[in-house]
Amino acid sequence: MEEPADHIFDHGPESLADRLEAWGLRRFRAKQLLRAVYGRGVGGPRQMTELSKADREALAERLTIVSGEPVGHQRATDGVQKLLMTWHGSGLQTESVMIPAGKRRTACISSQVGCPVGCRFCASGLGGLDANLSAGRIVEQVWQLGRLEGVGRISHVVFMGMGEPLANFGAVTDAIRTLMADWGPNLAGRRITVSTVGVPAQIRRLADLELPVTLALSLHAPNDDLRRELIPWAQRVAMDKLLEAGRYYFDRTGREITLEYILLGGVNDRPAHARELAEVAATLRANVNLIRYNEVSGLPDRRPGTRDVRAFQAILRRAGINTHIRASRGRDIAAACGQLRHEASQQVPAENPLPIAQGAG
Ligand code: SF4
Repeated sequence: MEEPADHIFDHGPESLADRLEAWGLRRFRAKQLLRAVYGRGVGGPRQMTELSKADREALAERLTIVSGEPVGHQRATDGVQKLLMTWHGSGLQTESVMIPAGKRRTACISSQVGCPVGCRFCASGLGGLDANLSAGRIVEQVWQLGRLEGVGRISHVVFMGMGEPLANFGAVTDAIRTLMADWGPNLAGRRITVSTVGVPAQIRRLADLELPVTLALSLHAPNDDLRRELIPWAQRVAMDKLLEAGRYYFDRTGREITLEYILLGGVNDRPAHARELAEVAATLRANVNLIRYNEVSGLPDRRPGTRDVRAFQAILRRAGINTHIRASRGRDIAAACGQLRHEASQQVPAENPLPIAQGAG
């Protein structure tokens, strides 16, 4: 059966009430519906016993709650869980990951199907961009991860899955508003991180919206020449323009920026790179997150040595830069974005599972 056009996760109380009214239902049902879905995890109008049978049937014909069908689910020994979802009516697939840490439950979600950027080390960009996700499908990933066994409430969201979030600006910012809404997941903005390879105009636009979210710039190289080798979009955007936009974001929002830096063995992990990166970070007063790469079959880069990673961090710290090495999580499943989908399309098993957020946009 064809999916109804209206997806509940695209709606807030007002727009949903308008729809209900147009369908001959009472407006106040909108708040009831949203409470049932976000509060109790109800996955279909027919499960809402507080509605009359006629209302349930009318809604089931017109309103979709669950649009994504989980077609793959993996659980790592450290509790990380990964979902591969097929979106109804499209055959398109995305990945979402839940990362537990103490009481924290982080949803790492996708903003696009595939990715237009094509970073040379990332599985997500291998086939280019297939489609943008709607705001509802972005929000639904968080909802679906929260329903997995043993998860409960998602406390943090990072846009570090498949896609470049600022290349799907409208849907991503709509989804952020829903994630922050008190009738929805009610997440604090500081617990939502948008990770981007950098689209300066969109970074300024995001700053001007005054959504209190955290911005992470995926730098991955300390200078333009190397960055252009790793990130095709860096051909169009010089680093100084990107850093200028980052400074604008900081000035406008007062929120510190994080620089994401994926360490590729023998490519961008030399002491000279660390010193150069320290200078860049200092101009932005940014924190640095180092991510240790794991190989993807078919891609050229290799994982750096432990000693090199520690030495890189030490140089940054000596320069006064707050620097963390992001822990590899979910390594016994294909936990980096794009890899499970890539493997599903190739029908090969994971040889070298990746850490989370290797495909961080
Ligand atoms: Fe896209 Fe991010 Fe992967 Fe680059 S690292 S191809 S921006 S998903």
